[in-house]
Amino acid sequence: MLRIGLTGGIGCGKTTVADLFAVKGIPVVDADLVARELVEPGQPALSAIVARFGPDILSAGRLDRARLRQIVFADPEQRLWLESLLHPRVYEGMRQRIATLAAPYGILVIPLLLETQGRDFVDRVLVVDCPEDVQRGRVKTRDHLDEAAVDRILAAQLSRAARLAAADEVISNAADPDELAVQVDRLHRLYLALSQDSHEPDVLLTNGNDG
Ligand code: ATP
Repeated sequence: MLRIGLTGGIGCGKTTVADLFAVKGIPVVDADLVARELVEPGQPALSAIVARFGPDILSAGRLDRARLRQIVFADPEQRLWLESLLHPRVYEGMRQRIATLAAPYGILVIPLLLETQGRDFVDRVLVVDCPEDVQRGRVKTRDHLDEAAVDRILAAQLSRAARLAAADEVISNAADPDELAVQVDRLHRLYLALSQDSHEPDVLLTNGNDG
């Protein structure tokens, strides 16, 4: 299966775009969902987090995600520790899911694909892009955050320019969501064609003059 890594800054529209591929019957594997399952009660990663941060990191037996976010955004060392715990497990969890899928291509939604050296995990990088002021507006509205909180999140992510430079394909989600469908149709055709190419035998090898 051709692996399409779908990434983009917070609030740019990754989920919105992934849903459009899912409507076409294309499997979507979401790194955020895998990450959430990793810290469910009883999972070894949750035990490691409790051992590090103490039982106050739990609320009614479940991970207090807001509290953990607060701690790691304020302390780079803790953030590095948490990332080194979770990121390899997220990629491993995604790999296991992909192994069960049968489709010409799949969409792997990985918000921090480029920040976590995930380039080799995917065949192509698809970036959902929008201008920063639009992005800020959407995040503030959806998550009820103030400007300073949005600043902190954006500072922890790659810049828009760096992300675009790493893209094989770009979807622009600056305007009306209706404009996404046409772009997704075009990419769907491209990825189907590319997935076929990758299954065709190499003519140089099969048609070679070997006497
Ligand atoms: P996150 O990084 O937080 O997971 P995301 O990249 O998956 O976010 P979405 O959740 O798809 O982004 O979109 C962010 C918010 O912006 C949502 O509330 C969504 O409904 C809204 N949104 C997405 N695209 C558009 C658009 N073209 N016009 C207006 N609102 C939009």
